Amino acid sequence: MFHCRFAARGGYGGEPASPICRAMIAFIVAVMIAAIHTRTACALTVATATATVAEFDADAQQVAIANLQRYLQLDTAQPSPAYASALTLLTQLCFGVPNMKTQVSSFVRGKPVLVCSIAGDDPDAPSVMLNSHTDVVAAGNLSSWDFGPFDAERVPSSRLADALTGDDHIVARGAQDMKSVGIQYLEALKLLYRQHPKRTFRRTIHVVFVPDEEIGGADGMGNFVESEWFQRMNVGVSCDEGIASPTDEFELFLAERRPFWTRISVQDVPGHGAMVPKSTATLTLTQILANVATYRKRIAAEIASGEKDLGEIVSVNINHVSAGQAHAINVIPEHAVALLDIRVPPFVSAQQVEELIASWMPCAGCGIDVSFLYRVENGEQTSLDEDENPWAAVFKEATSDLKLRRPSVFFGATDGRYLRAKKIPVFGFSPMRNTPVLLHKFNEHLSTHVFLEGITVYSRIIATLANAPVLLHETVEKLEL
Ligand SMILES: [Zn+2]
Repeated sequence: MFHCRFAARGGYGGEPASPICRAMIAFIVAVMIAAIHTRTACALTVATATATVAEFDADAQQVAIANLQRYLQLDTAQPSPAYASALTLLTQLCFGVPNMKTQVSSFVRGKPVLVCSIAGDDPDAPSVMLNSHTDVVAAGNLSSWDFGPFDAERVPSSRLADALTGDDHIVARGAQDMKSVGIQYLEALKLLYRQHPKRTFRRTIHVVFVPDEEIGGADGMGNFVESEWFQRMNVGVSCDEGIASPTDEFELFLAERRPFWTRISVQDVPGHGAMVPKSTATLTLTQILANVATYRKRIAAEIASGEKDLGEIVSVNINHVSAGQAHAINVIPEHAVALLDIRVPPFVSAQQVEELIASWMPCAGCGIDVSFLYRVENGEQTSLDEDENPWAAVFKEATSDLKLRRPSVFFGATDGRYLRAKKIPVFGFSPMRNTPVLLHKFNEHLSTHVFLEGITVYSRIIATLANAPVLLHETVEKLEL
């Protein structure tokens, strides 16, 4: 018997003592890696078979559309979402998915998290999570809607000025953001079981419905990712929301911008309104805001020319300005304040943001104070580099027959940031092409054809992710335990 002894450094961290052993181990690891890659290729090839909308049984199509309408008819708009009704309906829909078990828990009273799981053949393999949020934003001014926002009416495209496909559309708040995706996950699983009733998945699948994304997610996903429940789920990869695409390419998001809510206050000497002092607090603030406006003009031009996407730039809006008292127009005020909403892509550092803000200042040491009401230091990105993120190769394979636009940074915030902060790769993907971007807008709608196509798209993504063999980084992590 041949032994390789490791230099004593404790645990598994030691170096093999002899060069022969090192060479042997290098060879064994190379063979293991090759084997894993081969297994990946085989599994992915098998998983590529999927249905198109045309092959999708007509009755099942109507059931899927009806289920979407039922979900959309529940008024889960902030600030008073009907979460209990949504929970009842979604639990009932999960009963229609073979082998699915549901579990519910609330971290904050009245705000339930629902996890619908299908156990995989390999219980130790990290699981696949399919996330959606159950709340929607308020419908706003009802007179601006041509249809009831919670009627989920099915209307022909001729009744919608901005429809991009010729078939029927479902009009409702949440049709795009993102009740459609939640239903697509469940219907995709049903489709997979209809294709192969006895099928199993290598990895456990969790379809997750969380509350409160539209108000920041602290009571929903924020609490959920910190729970033991979530830890036990051993999530390896997740899908979450993206946005619609008006072209025939699908959008994919791998990161999102983070907020830097900034307060700029200026202090100067107060005085009589008839005087002309060299500087005043309002004058200095005006100069700062003029510099902000010049910067804003430049980035607006970059977006308008198509040079950059909104998600790729540091954007800024002046959302509050105050100084002086309305009843004291003859007094030069001592203070002037502005609040800026700055949004920062993940590849821009906090220091770069501070430098940008500093560049707007007209003078140093002249009574200006910059503070942050809220800022997120680092933004995590999901890498598409297959060496950094082996799930990237799996996702690419799962979407290899789709026209995907160059991956982008989501311009707003989603629950995906909580998962990425836990180093979980998240693919922000709502399969809605040939669709105007209507999230948070009036007459939010989705074509029935696009919705059904999304089910077939997700059926392939789910099958490919859930059947992915043990990936290289998972093997390494196991060895390190
Ligand atoms: Zn959303």
